[in-house]
Amino acid sequence: MDAVTAEQNTSRNAFMTCSKCGASWSTRNAFLSDPGVQLVGYQAHFKKLVTGFFLFNHSCKTTMALKVSRFTDFYEGPIFMKRRTGSDECPGYCLREDCKLACPAECECAYIRHVMIVLDKWPKQTS
Ligand SMILES: [Zn+2]
Repeated sequence: MDAVTAEQNTSRNAFMTCSKCGASWSTRNAFLSDPGVQLVGYQAHFKKLVTGFFLFNHSCKTTMALKVSRFTDFYEGPIFMKRRTGSDECPGYCLREDCKLACPAECECAYIRHVMIVLDKWPKQTS
């Protein structure tokens, strides 16, 4: 089993619950389209990619970490099997948590960055 994560605070019925203010979102769409939720970055887990985290700030000033595996279905293109981290073609974006740029390398990690861009561009609800 994984170590303790923020997700274990999430109730069964909600997609996500903020551990600080208790706000909850029933679906992934509700979460992503909430103007009070902002993607801030990606915390890479290089041994097992899908156990990395996307980091979101909530308007109550908490950072919420959600597993990459909860969003990977947003990407449908090819997934490169080789890891290029640290090679000449690697721009090192995955080493910077606050970096939200797409990666040009043909690297196993690149698709996660594509998913992140989908999250970053998700249309926000206007009230
Ligand atoms: Zn909150």
